[in-house]
Amino acid sequence: MGLEDFDIKVCEKPAAAEEKVLKIMTPGPVQVAGNVRLARSFITTNPDLDEGFYDFYKETCDLLAKELHTQNNVYILGGEGILGLEAACASLTEPGDRVLVIDNGIFGKGFADFVSIYGGEPVLYTTDYHRPVDVTALKEFLEKDSDFKYATVVHSDTPSGVLNPVEKICPLLKSYGILTVADSVTGMFADEFYVDDSMIDIVCGGSQKALSAPPGLTFVAVSSAAMDVMEHRKTRIASFYANLLAFKTYYEDKWFPYTMPVSCIYGLRTALDNVIADTNHLYRHKQIAYAVRKALEAAGLVLYLKDGYASSVTVFNVPDGLKDSQILKNMRSKYNVMIAGCFDILAGKVIRIGHMGNNANIEDVSYTLDALGKVLDELGFKCRADMKQVFLQNLEK
Ligand SMILES: *Cc1c(COP(=O)(O)O)cnc(C)c1O
Repeated sequence: MGLEDFDIKVCEKPAAAEEKVLKIMTPGPVQVAGNVRLARSFITTNPDLDEGFYDFYKETCDLLAKELHTQNNVYILGGEGILGLEAACASLTEPGDRVLVIDNGIFGKGFADFVSIYGGEPVLYTTDYHRPVDVTALKEFLEKDSDFKYATVVHSDTPSGVLNPVEKICPLLKSYGILTVADSVTGMFADEFYVDDSMIDIVCGGSQKALSAPPGLTFVAVSSAAMDVMEHRKTRIASFYANLLAFKTYYEDKWFPYTMPVSCIYGLRTALDNVIADTNHLYRHKQIAYAVRKALEAAGLVLYLKDGYASSVTVFNVPDGLKDSQILKNMRSKYNVMIAGCFDILAGKVIRIGHMGNNANIEDVSYTLDALGKVLDELGFKCRADMKQVFLQNLEK
């Protein structure tokens, strides 16, 4: 058996392989550019012993910090996006700590698990999943109860596509002396994001969303206030792998807590360089997201959200009488495009088109909408408009 037997394309003839390849228009992982895939094949080094690698790693972290508009230190961790979220909670939570978990989405609520696994007491602040968190209502809540060590919030909750105003939420929390942890795994590089202006103590990002590297890395930006809290804990951080404090002096000491995945980091750096070189990056995300919503609505589909749309993903309700699995299956088998359903409480209810990072290009999105229109039509849902046409017409508005 070889990689080909698993439908994994080898890169001997990249152009030919690309033609056959399934278009993944999912909300992460997204399509990965050729130069990123190639960077992962560069000759590797021993990252623990090669001093030059520490410089390369630090420079990459500093570039991430610059793009995120923060003076805080960034650390790239060897593990999926989820590791970043868990590491933030593992490193901050001590037994008995009260933690405010802002819950208007599936990832938002998910933070409660990390908090309780590390002995904290999660207090859920649950609001309507169809819209962003209302800052005025949150303030009213905090007036009555603000005794929290830290709070968690998701910038852009990918299952619903909601974009929360972290630039208002986090400064409000800080005004009550609450540390802030924000999951911006899908938010960053798809929507505007100013970490320091938003007063976020720990930001979590991932490689496989708008940054458009393959899955495998997470990175965190950690404020000195958060580091200070970790250093002055009464109890030990109850994890080795998810201990953020262990990274604090990596550069001075030339020592990583574990061996860094060199090839993943080469890929991430190239993906970041691509984003930096693309001066139209955020504008294009906004433009495409807007036009996708217009197209779906014109066709008679119903968006899951009432308000607060992220630019990374568009989420619509499965039309009455149809099954998500049938739509997804036909998209793949007939048109070679993969879009996504959902999970948890949204399983079977919605369909998601991921148009972030490398997926945020007019050609792929219009192809996807065209295919979706045909698939729906074949399944008995008559679209009221040609989605591709409406999409293209709305790009300049
Ligand atoms: C993708 C994503 C994550 C990370 O999940 P993984 O399974 O590690 O990819 C975390 N939060 C949000 C909002 C995400 O979209």
